[in-house]
Amino acid sequence: MTSKIKNTAALQGGCLCGALRYQVSAMPFDSDYCHCSQCRKSTGAMAACWVDFKTEQITWLKGSPTEYASSTTIRRGFCNQCGTSISYRSTDYPDYYTLSIASLDNPNAVAPRYHIHTDQQADWLKISDDLPKYRQSRSEG
Ligand SMILES: [Zn+2]
Ligand SMILES: [Zn+2]
Repeated sequence: MTSKIKNTAALQGGCLCGALRYQVSAMPFDSDYCHCSQCRKSTGAMAACWVDFKTEQITWLKGSPTEYASSTTIRRGFCNQCGTSISYRSTDYPDYYTLSIASLDNPNAVAPRYHIHTDQQADWLKISDDLPKYRQSRSEG
């Protein structure tokens, strides 16, 4: 993962309208493409690209996400002014916080490392990379 970070000084990002701005103080520990239907509908993209941090590594410089409870434990964060999907977290794991790679000012700073929930991937979406692909979550294979 370290090799994928081109600028370790600070990763910054935010929503489309600028009401939400964040800075991350450390390198992410993981990143992925998620093809699940929840991420698809929530983000409005055919796959969500997520990057995972420790909660304490993220500072909201401006605003904070409004959250939608997509399940009893999952909170999906978005900008209540422009609708940008920006964050994901589980109340079961309060030490971890996930941001959308798409919300980074420099999306080249982090690349996804694998695909999950490819059993829900659209048939017409052809992905030719060599990254590991998991039909469900990473742990479920
Ligand atoms: Zn916004
Ligand atoms: Zn998902």
